[in-house]
Amino acid sequence: MIRKLLRRVFRRAAPVSALPEPAVIPVARHGVRREHISPAANKVCSVLQDGGHKAYVVGGAVRDIIVGHTPKDFDVATSATPEQVRALFRRSRIIGRRFKIVHVMSGSETIEVSTFRAMQDAESTETDEHGRVLRDNVFGSMAEDATRRDFTVNALYYDPSDETIVDYHHGVADLQQKTLRMIGDPRVRYREDPVRMLRAARLGAKLGLSIDPAARAPIREMAELLENVPPARLFDEMLKLLMSGHAVKCLKQLREEGLHHGLLPLLDVILEQPMGERFVWLSLENTDDRVRQGKPVSPGFLFATLLWHEVLADWEARKAKGEYSQPALFEAMDAVLERQSGKLAITRRIAGDIKDIWALQPRFDKRAGKTPHRLLEQPRYRAGWDFLRLRAQSGELPMELPDWWEAFADAHPEARENMLVPDKAGAAKKRRRRKKPAAAAATPGKE
Ligand code: ATP
Ligand code: MG
Repeated sequence: MIRKLLRRVFRRAAPVSALPEPAVIPVARHGVRREHISPAANKVCSVLQDGGHKAYVVGGAVRDIIVGHTPKDFDVATSATPEQVRALFRRSRIIGRRFKIVHVMSGSETIEVSTFRAMQDAESTETDEHGRVLRDNVFGSMAEDATRRDFTVNALYYDPSDETIVDYHHGVADLQQKTLRMIGDPRVRYREDPVRMLRAARLGAKLGLSIDPAARAPIREMAELLENVPPARLFDEMLKLLMSGHAVKCLKQLREEGLHHGLLPLLDVILEQPMGERFVWLSLENTDDRVRQGKPVSPGFLFATLLWHEVLADWEARKAKGEYSQPALFEAMDAVLERQSGKLAITRRIAGDIKDIWALQPRFDKRAGKTPHRLLEQPRYRAGWDFLRLRAQSGELPMELPDWWEAFADAHPEARENMLVPDKAGAAKKRRRRKKPAAAAATPGKE
């Protein structure tokens, strides 16, 4: 009685830290069967449970199965400590410095096993000057673990042994009502971790859920908090969003919420250029189609398209100032990537891929002599051509150019000779000019 009263008072005073009683939902009401869970995840749960621990499949996988998606991976949450988990599985290793988790390998699968973690709110833990929580590495109870998660639909604990879901925050009902609801006060939760705003847009778009008005309303005014998120984390999250198979929907949602400011700092500019806008949406649609068909997509290609019109503008400006075309392009590429790097930590490898694709573009203009044959042999030719075709589809170039290259690539080597397009005036000009760019390229340093 007193406990009940206390709980009620406590819950009213501090909704996030009050820990609710869970509902245990039988399979008839959620439909998640053991067969939907991967063999490895089933096994990890049963070994942990046999070892006397609590263990559940948790997070995105349970949510995805309920809405009819195939989960991309399975995470397990447990009461066992990382060392206890490690001791139960021969093929496992502890990873992470700040918060230890265990990777358990089973067949070709890797299951991520995390120990229940406690909520770290902005008042009781270390934060940056904007309230962003810097530490969340304290073990906790299962109820605490549920409460520290972001959305109610992400706090579902599936027990394969009896096919029930332990649901602390009405996540199953929210999912069935197609609502993405934040656990606790959305403003507080966004302040603790602004990336949750991006997750709201992404998960809403991916799962076809509408963001609950209470979680939606603060996004516009709090969007600027994203500026304090470390660039590497922002890059990871942007990549997840862009590769989700729902990038168009996600970005439209972000735009509606006023959230694209500060993401890619130049995205606003890109989206406001008529040519650039068409190009960006075409490329995102193209990426979404590929992801949904299970085809590989390269982050380098995607970022190359998002930033291309910036490169074009910068390149044109340099050429207008009298710089030679080729070095001007390379300078423009570096300048654009440099501008991005403060906000998004584009990894070195991806930056290399982006530059390869951009650097190939002027080479598609040359359709005479030996150059076209050499271009076909470039390892990145295919990505370069896909990029060229998108440029043409957006109206930047005549379609005839990618069509010619496609026919040229498909033609028999002997037939290729007859296809070359000797641009006489251009060739003559080039002969006259040939010495100059070479000399320019040889001048050391960047002016
Ligand atoms: P997906 O894997 O489809 O991208 P997900 O929800 O599984 O989506 P993960 O990044 O794999 O996303 O996170 C796993 C779980 O961890 C989530 O379901 C959620 O419960 C919790 N989580 C992830 N990020 C946060 C966050 N920023 N704040 C609170 N909880 C989070
Ligand atoms: Mg996941």
